[in-house]
Amino acid sequence: MRDIEVRGKRVLVRVDYNVPLDAGKILDDSRIRATLPTISYLREQRAKVILMSHLGRPKGWDEALSLRPVAERLAKLLAHEQSRRRPGVDHGDTSSPESWASPREGAVQMTDCCVGVDVQRAAHSLREGGVLLLENLRFHAEEEANDPEYAKALASLGEVYVNDAFGTAHRAHASTEGVARLLPAVAGLLMEKEIEFLSLAVENPERPYAAIIGGAKISTKMAALENLLSKVDKLLIGGGMANTFLKAEGFNVGESLVEDDYLEQAKSVMRQADEKGVRLLLPADVIVAERFAADSPARRVSVKDVPEGWRIMDVGETTIDVFARALQDCRMVVWNGPMGVIEMAPFAHGSHRLAGVIANLREATTIIGGGETAAVVEQVGLASRFSHVSTGGGASLEFLEGKELPGVTALMDA
Ligand code: ADP
Ligand code: MG
Repeated sequence: MRDIEVRGKRVLVRVDYNVPLDAGKILDDSRIRATLPTISYLREQRAKVILMSHLGRPKGWDEALSLRPVAERLAKLLAHEQSRRRPGVDHGDTSSPESWASPREGAVQMTDCCVGVDVQRAAHSLREGGVLLLENLRFHAEEEANDPEYAKALASLGEVYVNDAFGTAHRAHASTEGVARLLPAVAGLLMEKEIEFLSLAVENPERPYAAIIGGAKISTKMAALENLLSKVDKLLIGGGMANTFLKAEGFNVGESLVEDDYLEQAKSVMRQADEKGVRLLLPADVIVAERFAADSPARRVSVKDVPEGWRIMDVGETTIDVFARALQDCRMVVWNGPMGVIEMAPFAHGSHRLAGVIANLREATTIIGGGETAAVVEQVGLASRFSHVSTGGGASLEFLEGKELPGVTALMDA
């Protein structure tokens, strides 16, 4: 974005404002905050900023999935950002957007639709530095269908296209891919940061390089595992997906989540690791529970001693100790997927401890990919201690798989 002239131009920006909502109330505005650097930069350049996003999975027009609450929150955040940049002003309590002053300075216009004559008029009459947010892109089925006419209608609103929505870059939709073919297309500041860090993980990582892969299912992470096998020096496996590896190794895993269809592939991963000289670590001890419930009786056992009828819910202390030692000399660490059933407090411990271990690595570039994994480090207040916490769960996983993301490829072509 910084390499092209945007001054005074109408800049069409794809953002990811797919925020969690409860009856019109925004539960977490971090996705909105994440776009402020790009928007502020464009406004400083006196560009006319036209923002577009999807929200949820509407089937046609749906009041409950209108972006209006987002426009209001964005206006407050922008007003706050502006006053923050002005010296000599006491800003008082800045933690709660509800308590901030008039959003006038950050005024965000909003349209009832994202294409059509009214939208055209609004876009073309924007003042320099003005901000317009289009209504939910997915109110039209043409968005996900990457319909060329729809892309053309969107493109007609701007003179330049900026994609700052990494979280949807793995989808070839009208607003992420179609539009990029029709206008000069560049990455926004958030997108740039995502690509910069995730590229380190798959292109030329500093060594030793360790990937820690966890989460529920091996099936969803197989492609990433195979790609990472040829990049990493150490592969640490935890979470539910470790169960399939443990079973493939001949351990009894009781009633644990296992994917029997993947036993052969798990063996193949272990074989390949051996051949490539990758050090592969599986859990040594685990927390097992009688039932899949937070209040179930639970205890720590060696992976050799999982009781019949019980299930693995988390990794044990020894496993984290071993993982911590393996990570100590690493210069690059990528973590995707929790070590246990983080939704249940007694089984979130392994993931929380691991977050602390990685956060304390001084010499390493540390990257979090994966939605739940990002939530874990936010939960324990360690997000800022990582080099990069990706905002795109699915997109970061596809990046680690070595796939091209259509939304990114389209930009590079421009
Ligand atoms: P991410 O979103 O970070 O990529 P995933 O979606 O792959 O992570 O995995 C997160 C899920 O994995 C969580 O819902 C968690 O409950 C589940 N999980 C982790 N360990 C286990 C386990 N031992 N048994 C069952 N589910 C597990
Ligand atoms: Mg997930």
